[in-house]
Amino acid sequence: MIHTDVVIVGAGPCGLFQVFELGLLGLKAEVVDSLRHPGGQCTELYPDKPIYDIPAIPVCSGQELIDALLKQIEPFDYGMHLGEEVTVVSKNDDDSFLVETSAGTQFHASAVVIAGGVGSFQPRQLRAEGAGDFEGKTLHYRVRNPEQFAGKRLAVLGGGDSALDWALELVDIAEHVTLVHRRDEYRAVQASVDKMRSLVADGRMDVIEKAKVTAIDGANGQLRSIMTQPKDGGDAVETAVDHVLVFYGLAPKLGPIADWGLDINRKTINVDTEKFETSTPGIYAIGDINYYPGKKKLILSGFHEAALAAFAIKARVEPGKKVHLQYTTTSPLMHKRLGVPD
Ligand code: FAD
Repeated sequence: MIHTDVVIVGAGPCGLFQVFELGLLGLKAEVVDSLRHPGGQCTELYPDKPIYDIPAIPVCSGQELIDALLKQIEPFDYGMHLGEEVTVVSKNDDDSFLVETSAGTQFHASAVVIAGGVGSFQPRQLRAEGAGDFEGKTLHYRVRNPEQFAGKRLAVLGGGDSALDWALELVDIAEHVTLVHRRDEYRAVQASVDKMRSLVADGRMDVIEKAKVTAIDGANGQLRSIMTQPKDGGDAVETAVDHVLVFYGLAPKLGPIADWGLDINRKTINVDTEKFETSTPGIYAIGDINYYPGKKKLILSGFHEAALAAFAIKARVEPGKKVHLQYTTTSPLMHKRLGVPD
């Protein structure tokens, strides 16, 4: 059990800035994200795209913004738990919270901040007849142990970096790899596409383009074949495979947040605009996940919300004490917390 002042659900830009605002007030945070890297939508959806409306930064990419936020919170002793989804948030008798993740990590916290954006990113599912029967056995959405595919016939589905990276890596381990993509243009980096094309030309792997997998066949969780339907309406093609690996990207789902007993308003959480507190005292929501009249889903709005939530949490953690506004420019206490030399 990890004891902390605050658990932050989500390591997007708003969750990361929440660490900073809490740190300035002397509060320790543990951040959990279901993705394997911090940054939320900025790094997952548009790492290289320019953002022009972050105050005082005329332009920066999604990745640069996240790198700068991670740099800004370096002075603080926070915890980061990636690749874990927060599944349980429940209130203890003493008004503290028990928070649990999909990996079994448990936290005891005085407050919880939900900075879950549009929800937790989950792999997009293969919609093909019979797919459900093979999931977790011979149909995979992530690779945990590449060696399990040694000597097997694989179909790798998708046209992004994950699909190409795994197809290229597994070609040396598997008996045979067939890449299936619904288009003949790829989102993956050009170098990977060039390498794939040269392996295909050498007869070391196959590619089926402009087609989608419509059915998969087998028994007792063991695959026999996939059926691919060309988009031009030609005849479906059957390919014998032992495993299918699907990399169709990630889609956000509100997920477990919907089960925490909060006042939910069409996939967003209602909050007040003084503390950004939800219907459960001690649970706050900031960034894209919250709703209040006039809400705008912008990063700068989430930053403001993080500042006010931090003040409210400080008052909750230290009841009866006035929380003074201090400037980072002049406050010796804040300088100490930031590690600024005297
Ligand atoms: P997110 O960035 O969505 O991060 C939330 C994180 O919470 C995710 O990583 C998710 O995995 C995690 N999470 C959710 N539930 C759980 C759970 N149960 N357990 C663990 N983790 C969980 N905004 C601007 O201000 N300016 C722009 O120019 C701009 N351009 C954009 C361009 C594009 C293409 C897109 C898609 C968005 C853009 N936005 C822009 C919007 C901006 O990205 C969002 O407002 C911002 O990312 C919201 O930050 P957040 O921290 O609230 O949530």
